[in-house]
Amino acid sequence: MPDSSDARTSAAPASTPGENLLVVENLQVAYGATQVLWGISLSVPRGKVTCIIGANGAGKTTTLNAIAGVLPVKGGKLLLEGNDVTSLPPWERVKRHVSLVPEGRQLWPGMSVEENLLMGCFLPSLRARAQSSLARMYELFPRLKERRRQLAGTLSGGEQQMCAIGRGLMSEPHLLMLDEPSLGLAPKLVDEIFSFIAKISREGMTILLVGQNVNYTLQISHYGYVMETGRITLEGSGEQLFHNDYVRQAYLGGALDHPPADPTRQAPSV
Ligand code: ATP
Repeated sequence: MPDSSDARTSAAPASTPGENLLVVENLQVAYGATQVLWGISLSVPRGKVTCIIGANGAGKTTTLNAIAGVLPVKGGKLLLEGNDVTSLPPWERVKRHVSLVPEGRQLWPGMSVEENLLMGCFLPSLRARAQSSLARMYELFPRLKERRRQLAGTLSGGEQQMCAIGRGLMSEPHLLMLDEPSLGLAPKLVDEIFSFIAKISREGMTILLVGQNVNYTLQISHYGYVMETGRITLEGSGEQLFHNDYVRQAYLGGALDHPPADPTRQAPSV
């Protein structure tokens, strides 16, 4: 594990008040007696892709769940657009335009694609716009339109991920959190999913991305954090982390001079 004092890079994320949509301060989370987040701090600037990378069990999913409000926090603060939302329930955070696309999609397999999408706008304030939101999703994902009546459980992995992202977008998020969106997908679908993330980022969406595919994740991220055993150990721009020796050795299979057997592929640009 790198020494965080040396490893932190100089290009800190934007810290001007108002520029950060989300600020996480000294967040601590425990499952019962077992603490898994030990005071992490990070910022998510508006209109940018910010990522968290790290080994299995580091605490990435726990972080996203705590931000979404589905896990209580033990200590620290979550500031959304400058307001303290630490103790708000999940639906209040959805109202404040925070949306989580969870790891493993978590669709309702016995419901149709359209019914799953509509679950993304369950709040009364959103329901009035459900039909126009659906039309927007079908424009973004024509394949979901073709399969609108199909049961979600019978979709391919890539289609399920599109449906999960579509459901997340139905709540009109300002902050979209994506947990391992390419998990278990074939390379072509990984390309498609990252192209889509890059596209919505270019259109102005603020994204907090947890990526198992570190190569693509860093290439489409403006800024990133490395998390290890519940702590942020390294941070920097996506490019800095992509070229960082420690990150390359630990997460990308080797130094740039000696590329891994699976050569670095070019992710879609943001
Ligand atoms: P992965 O990349 O494998 O998804 P992660 O970085 O997202 O890992 P988390 O899922 O946040 O890590 O898990 C962090 C730690 O918390 C792990 O040690 C995990 O075993 C533990 N943990 C996660 N969920 C629970 C739970 N419901 N009860 C107890 N411990 C949990």
